[in-house]
Amino acid sequence: MIPEFNLKNKTAIVTGGCRGIGKAIAIGLAKHGCNIVVSDLLEKPAVNTAKEIKKLGVKAIAVQTDVSNKDSVNNLINQTVKKFKKIDILVNNAGIFYPTPLESMKKQDWDKIMKVNLDGYLLCAQAAFPYLKKQRSSAIVNIASIAGLSAFAGSAAYNCSKAAIIMLTKSIAQDWAKYGIRCNTICPGVIVTPMTRAMLKDKNFQASLKIGVPLQRPGKPQELAGLAVYLASDASSYMTGSIIPIDGGWTCHL
Ligand code: NAP
Repeated sequence: MIPEFNLKNKTAIVTGGCRGIGKAIAIGLAKHGCNIVVSDLLEKPAVNTAKEIKKLGVKAIAVQTDVSNKDSVNNLINQTVKKFKKIDILVNNAGIFYPTPLESMKKQDWDKIMKVNLDGYLLCAQAAFPYLKKQRSSAIVNIASIAGLSAFAGSAAYNCSKAAIIMLTKSIAQDWAKYGIRCNTICPGVIVTPMTRAMLKDKNFQASLKIGVPLQRPGKPQELAGLAVYLASDASSYMTGSIIPIDGGWTCHL
């Protein structure tokens, strides 16, 4: 029997789920029948996205969360279990990006990026662990970046945070496979979201995409949703610890 993409009656938490890549993934999961917890730093946009998702015929709630704060993450897990009684899928997506050239980078910038991009993924995975374990078949989908595979210039903290997510993914895969928890990572290339809006207006950056990206364009958030659904579902039941770029071919050069 071919394992299914069906996510009916499953529960997924999507961090940073109110917009950009997180929102596209949340909608993708919902379209396959999954109930969604939209977790984001700001409550109002998260509530709006949850309302939009409910129109797809699934249940959805919004939980205001700072993924870098342990109490806030515990509250996210408690609210999820209170509403849905279980957690089948965790999509670690909330992240921040700003340039940190090595020679002028302040320690507080390094700490801030690490706290959200790396500690946030660990805190959410650890807090969700008892519930993911209970399901005996559950999935964590981490969103890293091609910056974790090939350093972006002037972005040391971001690059290191994303490289560490790749190793965190493999570590979770090693340690939690025995509990039926699979963990895989998507490495997006340049995707059109609020995070990249300013960058993508730059003519030199646009030109560099034409040269460096075989498909010669940035991706759309929706173009990541299919893989996220696959990794979250039983269709990928023999995959764990995998690191998969979706980058228009950017990493062909590596
Ligand atoms: P985005 O549009 O900026 O969305 C990120 C979301 O995460 C925002 O809603 C943001 O809320 C939220 N967030 C930030 N800090 C948070 C925190 N401490 N706790 C909870 N939520 C928080 O970015 P995106 O482009 O969709 O990126 C999503 C993920 O993909 C990130 O991990 C990013 O590094 C990764 N990625 C993006 C690209 C790209 O080209 N766009 C490429 C590779 C990887 P606020 O706005 O309120 O801060």
